Amino acid sequence: MKDSIHVSKENYLKAILEADAEGRQVIPALLAHWLEVSAPAVTMALKRLKRDGYVEVGEDGIVRLTASGREMAYRTALRHHLIERMLSEIFGMAWYEIHEEAERLEHAVSPAFEAKLREKLGEGGACPHGNAVLPENPIERKRRGEVPLSEAAAGQRYVVASLHERDPELLLFLHRAGIGPSKSLRVVSQNYDQTVSIELSTGVSILGRPAAEAVWLRPEVQ
Ligand SMILES: [Zn+2]
Repeated sequence: MKDSIHVSKENYLKAILEADAEGRQVIPALLAHWLEVSAPAVTMALKRLKRDGYVEVGEDGIVRLTASGREMAYRTALRHHLIERMLSEIFGMAWYEIHEEAERLEHAVSPAFEAKLREKLGEGGACPHGNAVLPENPIERKRRGEVPLSEAAAGQRYVVASLHERDPELLLFLHRAGIGPSKSLRVVSQNYDQTVSIELSTGVSILGRPAAEAVWLRPEVQ
């Protein structure tokens, strides 16, 4: 569990915005899980964020951002996105190495440097994990024809569209399993024990459900 002091106001606001963008109901327990902090730490942080006018907590227990909370959360998410792209596109760092680096740097960027990054890279592109500034609602993604690996059809060929990037250990695990953004794969079988067998150019891999749910695919165009 992380020391609550090291999880800043910006981390809380960004987590709330990202969870909301994914179509989740933002309750304190979700924030405790995502930010790896204790329930009392979340309670204290929410109290402060409420006092400062960044969030409102409804009678249903759901946390919602105010306009100023949303603005600060988006700025933090955008800085994270731009820094990831800088590390990858300018410095050539690998996609499975950069998330934590960006988590640290996003709090240190001055407005002037942020403007430079935005000018050089633009706001529209995808990060090296295949994600836009904010995550997308799974319902929207499925409507576009994307599917998580945990639900992909056996026998079909797919290309990896994007990866959930919240957990650096998961990214490293996926990399070691031969999976990465834009990689092409064939689903061999969805197995009884909720694992999925896939065939990559490097061989066959078997992934458990938590990893398979974090990999979004689009059908490979022949
Ligand atoms: Zn990313």
